[in-house]
Amino acid sequence: MIRTEDELRREIVEVGRWVHRQGYVAGYDGNISARLDNRRILSTPTTIGKGMMQPDDLVVVDYEGRKIAGQRKVTSEIAMHLLIYKRRPDVHAVVHAHPPTATGFAAAGLSLNKALISEVVLSFGCIPLARYGTPGTPELTEALMPLVGSYDAILMANHGVVTCAPDLERAYFKMETVEHFAKISLVTEILGRQVLLSGTEVDKLLAARQSYFGPGTPAIERSAVCPIADGVQSAGTGSGTEERFAVSQEDLAAMVREALAEQLKVKS
Ligand SMILES: [Zn+2]
Repeated sequence: MIRTEDELRREIVEVGRWVHRQGYVAGYDGNISARLDNRRILSTPTTIGKGMMQPDDLVVVDYEGRKIAGQRKVTSEIAMHLLIYKRRPDVHAVVHAHPPTATGFAAAGLSLNKALISEVVLSFGCIPLARYGTPGTPELTEALMPLVGSYDAILMANHGVVTCAPDLERAYFKMETVEHFAKISLVTEILGRQVLLSGTEVDKLLAARQSYFGPGTPAIERSAVCPIADGVQSAGTGSGTEERFAVSQEDLAAMVREALAEQLKVKS
């Protein structure tokens, strides 16, 4: 369905309210954009609370990020949006936010790359982590460059998340799914155990993506790291074989005291 500029303005304002209400942004965080045509992008401006925007607050830019229309200033993160629109003809909307759980993974240097949930594998293949780049600089777009061709959701190290889709509603829902999946992944980490889908099951889901989401959907090949398939794993970021145990602060202090006392005994 082709939308008019007015409709897209109202949708961006609405998505701004959703990301704010869900706590995916704080202060002036995040930005949302939509493709108007092959010359122009409609985007949220810089320094505006995403939950309190009006349709007239938005700016129109060309594919080089130069402002064509609007009162406010263009966001410094526009280059990330433009990169995605240039690389992905199937994409007509981009949402960038800092949802706390998924951003926590990004700040821990972890991608959401485990084949834990079938619908996530179907929707995203996996959710990779782009290396850190200073926001608003070419460093950030260079870090995203190798990933935007294949992935609809990308974690950005020490920063946040970007999602893209054929329309604004779906780009927002992808952000919701990323944060929801980050919470599920965190629960498996707390439980200390993860049952990953087999490689065969993952391949079946990846092969079904085009029939679910249309022929423009990028093909994703399973690699050793994205998504990680097969069997039961101990959760955690190490080798997957180490034993973990929890100890209270009091017990830990007592253990240290005991060890020190032992040492002193040996010395005397
Ligand atoms: Zn950001």
